[in-house]
Amino acid sequence: MPTQRSALTRHAAVQLDAADPLAHLRAEFLLPAGRLYFAGHSLGPLLQRSQDRVLQVLRNEWGRDLVHSWESQDWLALPQQVGRKIARLIGARPDEVLAADSTSVNLVKLLTAGLRLRPERPRLLGIEDDFPTDRYLAAELAATHGRRLELVPPAQLLAALDRDVALLLLSHVHYKTSERFDLEGLTRAAHAQGALVLFDLSHSAGTMPLDLRGADVDFAVGCGYKYLNGGPGCPAFVFVAERLQEQVRSPLTGWLGHVDPFAFAPEFAPAPGIVRFQCGTPAILSLAAFAAALDVFADLDLAQVRTKALALGEFFLATLHARGRAADLLLLSPQDPQARGSHLAFRHPEARTILNALKQRSVVADFRPPDILRWAMTPLYLRYTDVWDAALILDQVLSEPGDRSGVI
Ligand SMILES: *Cc1c(COP(=O)(O)O)cnc(C)c1O
Repeated sequence: MPTQRSALTRHAAVQLDAADPLAHLRAEFLLPAGRLYFAGHSLGPLLQRSQDRVLQVLRNEWGRDLVHSWESQDWLALPQQVGRKIARLIGARPDEVLAADSTSVNLVKLLTAGLRLRPERPRLLGIEDDFPTDRYLAAELAATHGRRLELVPPAQLLAALDRDVALLLLSHVHYKTSERFDLEGLTRAAHAQGALVLFDLSHSAGTMPLDLRGADVDFAVGCGYKYLNGGPGCPAFVFVAERLQEQVRSPLTGWLGHVDPFAFAPEFAPAPGIVRFQCGTPAILSLAAFAAALDVFADLDLAQVRTKALALGEFFLATLHARGRAADLLLLSPQDPQARGSHLAFRHPEARTILNALKQRSVVADFRPPDILRWAMTPLYLRYTDVWDAALILDQVLSEPGDRSGVI
């Protein structure tokens, strides 16, 4: 990795780009010219193939063929088709994943299913400061099911896992700090106590090799519009291990989770397998965009994606370090790159103002209150030269205190 000072020139970045096995993928994305985009952890950019596909659906399937497209295009199969593409990325079987609803709604389904499988256990375990929707829903559902939600600092998770825990809910990669938790070890520890696990993969799916089956994970959810580039508000995914599928039910017993929706039967009977976690009519336009976006991953080696994400991050840090910025910007993410996800988080008291100054110079990062700057290192469309240029612009912004005074 290019951490020596001597390697830190723009020319070195150009050479790294020339040797990058993923470099060809950038041409797939419709990135606005001149903008350096480091917010892929928040909203992935549009792919040419998604645009083409959605226009085709708009013009032909919806615009021209109307209601016939449900059958002629097999629109109702899309949630499972997209689920199969995601399954490959997370080490699941093709029939263990469904694309449907939002991450939040899928959390309701799986938290409920998990708590019902362990009715005698009083605690739902999670960490302090996990993503808000996860914590809010965990609190509400724990209360609904007569359980107690226990939120501990991450370092205390293992100690808190005992035979009172029904379910452990955890983001695999933390949305703020980018800390990556030990999915396999925690699953093993939870199972040793008879507890179930539910991982939120919103910040890890599509960024690194994952092996949910190998790790024996029970449940997972994840977001489609971040690193998977599915488009704003596109359906999220839901994973249920095959061995549990016939034992669990979704609390949202909508008609499309029914074994035979078009029989219009008087009572609900769950479909076999993962389809029971479907609720209502799928969002076809969003699924069309998402399905096309996922095809970019079809032949990708996620180990290569992971290696480049970490290398981009190290290059960014080394460039800032060489410019004497290590002290100004406190790295909130783990020092060890292997212990991180794909973004870097920094603390700076004027983070919000810095972000605005960057925006004026066409660098897009993001801000989380009160003082955190996040930079997503997305290997599918970012170049080492982009990282170099952004680090230099950040260095400039930091050296111009006048630009920032009075804005906060
Ligand atoms: C982005 C994100 C979500 C998003 O949930 P929505 O229901 O799509 O709004 C949920 N959990 C985590 C950890 C996230 O990062």
